[in-house]
Amino acid sequence: MLSEISLALTAITGAKTITEGLVAERDAVKIRTATSELLGLLIDVQGTLLALQRDQAVLNEELARHKKEKSELADRLKRVERTRQEYTDYERVLVAGGHCVVYAAKPDEHRVRHPPYLCATCFEADQYSTLSLQMGTQKKPGRKLVCPASALHTLALPRGSWTPENLCPVEKSVQP
Ligand SMILES: [Zn+2]
Repeated sequence: MLSEISLALTAITGAKTITEGLVAERDAVKIRTATSELLGLLIDVQGTLLALQRDQAVLNEELARHKKEKSELADRLKRVERTRQEYTDYERVLVAGGHCVVYAAKPDEHRVRHPPYLCATCFEADQYSTLSLQMGTQKKPGRKLVCPASALHTLALPRGSWTPENLCPVEKSVQP
């Protein structure tokens, strides 16, 4: 943008010099030539100003986008912090007879960890996705704990009669 401004200033200086020369000029041919040079310089300046205006518009758009992103990030951070507060007593544990790593609330007085369980992959990325139990179908037997955020986070449950309440919690917490 600075080089564009400098170009415009050079053109304006050139136009000023030509105009000063024109004041004393009587020769019609020279006047015509100088006038067309002047017009050329004015067109250059106009072009530069248009380019600057365009750059300014792009910068304004970028600024608006950055402001929007900043406010969205701030909102997201607030949400994450609020949710993190909600899940402070959650810890990384093995459930389903030690087959699946999830985040679960501390055990109750009967040493049972109740669902909902949270997806460990999401949890460690500061996202909180509640795993849901998906029953097997004839086509796809086998039960799963499904993460709403990504099919890649699906946890296959071992054979057995699992329900959300009898996922065989293992009391010991495991290190990440
Ligand atoms: Zn997940």
